[in-house]
Amino acid sequence: VALAVAVFVIAPVGAAQSNDTLFRPLELPAANAMRTAGGAPGPKYWQQRVNYDIAVTLDTAAHAIAGRESVRYTNNSPDTLRELWFQLDQNLYRPDSRGTTLHPERATIAPAGFQGGYSVRAAFRASTPPSSLHVAVTGTLMKLDLDRPLAPGTTVTVSIEFAYPIPENGSDRTGHARLASGLSYAIAQWFPRLVVYDDVRGWNTDEYLGQGEFYLEYGDIDYAVTVPRSFIVTGTGVLVNADVVLTDSLRARLARAASSSEVIPIISRSEVAHAGARPQGAAPLLTWHFSAHNVRDVAWAASPAFAWDAVGSNGVLVQALYPADSPADWSHSVINARDDIALYSRTWMPYPYPVATVVAVPLNHGMEYPMLVFVSGKYNGRALESATLHELGHQWFPIVVGSNERQHGWMDEGFTTFINWEGIGYKATGNGKFAQQFAGAGRPGPIMQPSDYIAATQYDALTYDLPDAGLELLRHQITRDTATFDSAFREYIRRWAFKHPTSADFFRSMNEGIGDDLSWFWRGWFGSTDAMDLGIDSVTQTVDAERLTAHLHLAKAGPMPMPVPIRLTLVDGTLKEVKLPVTIWRDGDHVRYDIAVAGSVVAAEIDAAQNYPDVRRANNVWKR
Ligand SMILES: [Zn+2]
Repeated sequence: VALAVAVFVIAPVGAAQSNDTLFRPLELPAANAMRTAGGAPGPKYWQQRVNYDIAVTLDTAAHAIAGRESVRYTNNSPDTLRELWFQLDQNLYRPDSRGTTLHPERATIAPAGFQGGYSVRAAFRASTPPSSLHVAVTGTLMKLDLDRPLAPGTTVTVSIEFAYPIPENGSDRTGHARLASGLSYAIAQWFPRLVVYDDVRGWNTDEYLGQGEFYLEYGDIDYAVTVPRSFIVTGTGVLVNADVVLTDSLRARLARAASSSEVIPIISRSEVAHAGARPQGAAPLLTWHFSAHNVRDVAWAASPAFAWDAVGSNGVLVQALYPADSPADWSHSVINARDDIALYSRTWMPYPYPVATVVAVPLNHGMEYPMLVFVSGKYNGRALESATLHELGHQWFPIVVGSNERQHGWMDEGFTTFINWEGIGYKATGNGKFAQQFAGAGRPGPIMQPSDYIAATQYDALTYDLPDAGLELLRHQITRDTATFDSAFREYIRRWAFKHPTSADFFRSMNEGIGDDLSWFWRGWFGSTDAMDLGIDSVTQTVDAERLTAHLHLAKAGPMPMPVPIRLTLVDGTLKEVKLPVTIWRDGDHVRYDIAVAGSVVAAEIDAAQNYPDVRRANNVWKR
């Protein structure tokens, strides 16, 4: 049925009422030369640069790490610094740490009496002779007093000796176990790392409490790990001394894999622990040397039991390492990893690093590090596939787009969950399930909270699912088309790759990219627990000069405004879909919308496709 020209009339109903306040600009910090009003890094944007040179030994008898780092810190800020703050994340595993007190379930799963934490043995500024520096440790933070001020634009090199016992399970992000196949180590949060000094908060001295994740400076990290000769080590970065730690035959396979579209087993399951798979020599230890450019962290894993697969993909060496007795699907892991990397590269931004590795670890979940993801070695089947998809998604957030996870956990887990789901095919209609699961019970709290303030039971909802649901609403229901959303999101990624965006930068960048001031949405979905409850009060009809007009009397019963997708059913069964812009709510919570129709309206429904987390569906439907 062809419709007459629609007449769009929106009228407020009843006493004068204004909802202008719903659409007021979002309260954001003033734009400045570092961060522009359009959400981009400004002409005076700066961030510190931190390069590390690290050498440690893994003690497989004591399960401990000991070594030394040399840190080259460049002060790109306009401020003179008199101290450097470091993150000593292992101090979370001291029995008296704040994290153990506040979030025991997040701190460690260790045998009773485990005494974790660093001993920091010395700190020096490089000079002749080296100057000893005063160190003060508070919880997971260490302040190192510089013996002379560090002026803007200058560099200081300090070296620190450190050691710590490895927890069996450190917050499910690092640990070790003796598996049937042999020892297995997953080593992360292992070297003293600089606290970020930025233009937003100065030194970001938020302690590591075990729940909230990380905020780290970018730089080049070169590290050497000494382990027993029988061990295989995999880690962030490029292996630079394959000639020392691999046999000629393994090296040849690895070289072939880099440009191979077929999977090359570097060490097949059946070759694991065979003497021929390791270089011969008298020395009991070997040192593996890795180098990583432009990263915010490095992690590694080590075991004598690793099988090792590799394949090339667009210049990236994709690898999977897993104990030989791992579940069967680990044999396909490298292919899944390759496809995941290709998917995100195609959609959002090409993967910028030369290596991408998935490693099976003796932990209960997965965890992301630059170029390397930990995935629980217990996983198989769908769990293995989806954990790999999820953790590799983190290469984009927060590893490339380096937001502050401890302040804005949702910009890490939420964005990653979003690209996971979009990657495997969100259907634009009838698929509001992520949003709808929060409709009945309501949202447990605002998304925008520092990660460690969120109750553990609400962490998944507020950090993963709700931000994901918000981005899906934005991409599929609010933005005029998905291509517009995608180009805006890609531009946000491009602007902030290897930088430190805040939530304000994200909101501004998306407003600019989409071409719409979405203050109402950022405030309603990310900054509040406002319920979404749209409804139809009634439908009336009038005939004027032989033209039939339906008057839709619409209600916004909850505080959060949304565009209004309406399906009208006409008397002959014809369906008519119309989507009213969110700004119809500017005039009040009850508005009348007039539309010319070709036949009498017998039913009307808001969000018939059920994409909204509308808390009350009963009022969405009107029937004559
Ligand atoms: Zn995650």
